[in-house]
Amino acid sequence: MTTLTLVRGDITRQTADAIVNAANSSLLGGGGVDGAIHRRGGPAILEECRKLRASRYGKGLPTGRAVATTAGDLDAHWVIHTVGPVFSSTEDRSDLLASCHRESLRVADELGARTVAFPAISTGAYRWPLRAAARIALETVRNTPTDVEEVRFVLFDQSAYDAFAAQIR
Ligand code: ADP
Repeated sequence: MTTLTLVRGDITRQTADAIVNAANSSLLGGGGVDGAIHRRGGPAILEECRKLRASRYGKGLPTGRAVATTAGDLDAHWVIHTVGPVFSSTEDRSDLLASCHRESLRVADELGARTVAFPAISTGAYRWPLRAAARIALETVRNTPTDVEEVRFVLFDQSAYDAFAAQIR
């Protein structure tokens, strides 16, 4: 049984086995959650990301996929980097957003992580409407078989929190 919880706050302040990063495919840092994770987590995370770019992910991490690194100075064992889709009003990219959540849980299971904190992937710079993103995130986590015991969505502002809370029922 996986317990779903919602908290409002900064994901870099969470204690969890794994913290999910809303990364971009370069894996070399960015704004939003990504910037905050690298700032607080320190250089060890970027160092591992660079190694991934030099080996398995020469062209970057594809959208919808996930890969783990150390969590550096964060209060976690791992950061799971996943690349959300940019929202499009002309193309339905819901499957890719669902895939981010499925793949992150798959990586968490491989690692043996039992508590995983997720941000609201794609709802910042990638402009996904909060209600739709919350529905996809919650449905996917509910429907993905996993050994993760707690999936915690960490919502940065009240509107994101409200969007998730309205659909968690
Ligand atoms: P994306 O590029 O996938 O849209 P962003 O990092 O721009 O990723 O935004 C994703 C969501 O994370 C947004 O709802 C944003 O408000 C939120 N966010 C930004 N910083 C943090 C943080 N430190 N902790 C948790 N959520 C955050």
